[in-house]
Amino acid sequence: MKRLHSFKVGNFKCTLFKDFLYRYRITDYFQNVSTEVAVQALEKFSVIEGMIPSPYVALLVETDDKKILVDTGVGKRSQILEFKGHQFRFEGQLIPDLIANSLLDKIDKVILTHLHPDHAGGLFSEDKKCLFSNSEIIIHQAEWDYWCRDYRMGSSPLFDYTIQEQVNPLKDQYLTLIDKPELEIIPGINLIHIPGHTPGQLAVHLNSNGENLLYISDAWLHPLHIEHLDWRNVVDLDHELANKSKLRLLNMAYDNSMLLQTFHFDFPGLGRIDKLNNNWSWVIEE
Ligand SMILES: [Zn+2]
Repeated sequence: MKRLHSFKVGNFKCTLFKDFLYRYRITDYFQNVSTEVAVQALEKFSVIEGMIPSPYVALLVETDDKKILVDTGVGKRSQILEFKGHQFRFEGQLIPDLIANSLLDKIDKVILTHLHPDHAGGLFSEDKKCLFSNSEIIIHQAEWDYWCRDYRMGSSPLFDYTIQEQVNPLKDQYLTLIDKPELEIIPGINLIHIPGHTPGQLAVHLNSNGENLLYISDAWLHPLHIEHLDWRNVVDLDHELANKSKLRLLNMAYDNSMLLQTFHFDFPGLGRIDKLNNNWSWVIEE
């Protein structure tokens, strides 16, 4: 299947890069739901040998004079790293694809929606070279404080690696920490603080010539999380706060008929929110 998907949002050229594909257990995605109920609800979605396919993506936005990358994929790491019983060996395709398209050294700004390994894993090469040394890196202050100050090393080999090798060295790069609930970083690109999954997760709202795209990062991992707002995944840090952020995004997306990009849904993960009798649903945009 194709790894790159390009489309326009007003004057912005958008390209989605499929960086990697991982498969999660049903219990990773639906923690407080009986397996029977989850399996039945999953019948209309692809599940392969009891595992849910989950793409990792990145979004490149090209305006008239700027190139902005949202998230940096998993990067490449030959060592196997463990997280919640999963063994991860990463070989992301984003960086090779950016190099092949002569884009890697032309990125003006990198927005990291949060600092999980599938979003912030591609910043440094295995030989510790920053792959985005020409770019401004933008992170929410609450995200930075959590991982660089409050996170307890030793909790997870995969997260430890990401913080030590990919996040801490950003101190020596052109790093911008934002602490506002919303911030327009250039005309038409607005960052929205949506805490819960992590303390400083960001959604990215593009608006150009009346067209919209809302990149929701990990607000939902699966369409069933939109249909069932009380179904929890194992990775949200604060479920109540996450639910407030999810409702805010749902209303914003529905009221404005926005196109959404949903990082972990089937690639390219584009669609819209529908609502019938107070039940939310996901409508894929072909
Ligand atoms: Zn993720």
